[in-house]
Amino acid sequence: NEKILEVKDLYTSFFTHVGEVKAIRGVSFHLDKGEAIGIVGESGSGKSVTSMSIMRLLQYPGKIVDGKITFKGKDVVNMSEKEMQRIRGNEMAMIFQDPMTSLNPVYTIGNQIMEAIRHHQGLSKKQAREKAVEMLKLVGIPSPEKRIDNYPHEFSGGMRQRAMIAMALSCEPSLLIADEPTTALDVTIQAQILELMKDLKEKINTSIILITHDLGVVADVCTRIIVMYGGLIMEEGTTEQIFYNPKHPYTMGLLKSIPRLDLGEKQRLVPIEGTPPDLLNPPKGCPFAERCPYTMKICQEMKPPYFEEEKGHRSMCWLLHKNAPQVEVDTGVKR
Ligand code: SF4
Ligand code: MG
Repeated sequence: NEKILEVKDLYTSFFTHVGEVKAIRGVSFHLDKGEAIGIVGESGSGKSVTSMSIMRLLQYPGKIVDGKITFKGKDVVNMSEKEMQRIRGNEMAMIFQDPMTSLNPVYTIGNQIMEAIRHHQGLSKKQAREKAVEMLKLVGIPSPEKRIDNYPHEFSGGMRQRAMIAMALSCEPSLLIADEPTTALDVTIQAQILELMKDLKEKINTSIILITHDLGVVADVCTRIIVMYGGLIMEEGTTEQIFYNPKHPYTMGLLKSIPRLDLGEKQRLVPIEGTPPDLLNPPKGCPFAERCPYTMKICQEMKPPYFEEEKGHRSMCWLLHKNAPQVEVDTGVKR
């Protein structure tokens, strides 16, 4: 398998007036060509900062402190801003929760997509318009020949999200990063957008990083899942491994908090009690120790290493140490 992206030992911090907030504290993972992975965690876990680091879109006072990011064999961290601008929107594209952050209200949808295409592919105006219609059709906008001349406010929320995906994909990027792309949408539209992303992955062979706080969202689209907490990867595995054989108490907590439509309204969410660690003064042990139902003495004192369960399945938790007490672990999995 050809690697398209490799993140190695990434550290990203925000240098605020009260001190260094260590948002990412040594994160490593990779993405193969044409593969879709999910990065899952609560807000503040570091998932968005990871994607902003990859795109080199961190705003002051955020800074990559250490580590390597390799995209298609190129060193992203030390790349010139000019080269980075060429790559962004051309080879790497990003979509956000709120399409209005990417769509400009004063230009028509078509003009914005055409602008993106012409800028990156050097097409004529007519060719760009044809391509824009084709993209709108691909993302399921009805009568794209007419809709292309609409303004963003004439589109529904779901259609705006589709238009933003069309814009992001119009340059056929090798990597698409989608940060909570469906969070603001209702459940039906959410399912449609996810289905669309899955489709496009097949058609354009784009690699996808799907970032979300909801484990339920990634199940259908992604083959691998990374669970983040406190600026670290807590667990990584295939979608199967994460859903049916979770090893980290935080993953188990996330699994239990997925709304279960199949169980009807009676099944309530079980939120994980407590709050994430303060990354201005990160705990020296396991970042989840304050909230974990299985915390042991060592958890407070030493950060656990990764224990590999199976090939490709790793978890940062002392419970997996061979000398750890055998505890009755509730994985929340009901098959
Ligand atoms: Fe819980 Fe300890 Fe595992 Fe952390 S290392 S998740 S505190 S059992
Ligand atoms: Mg975020």
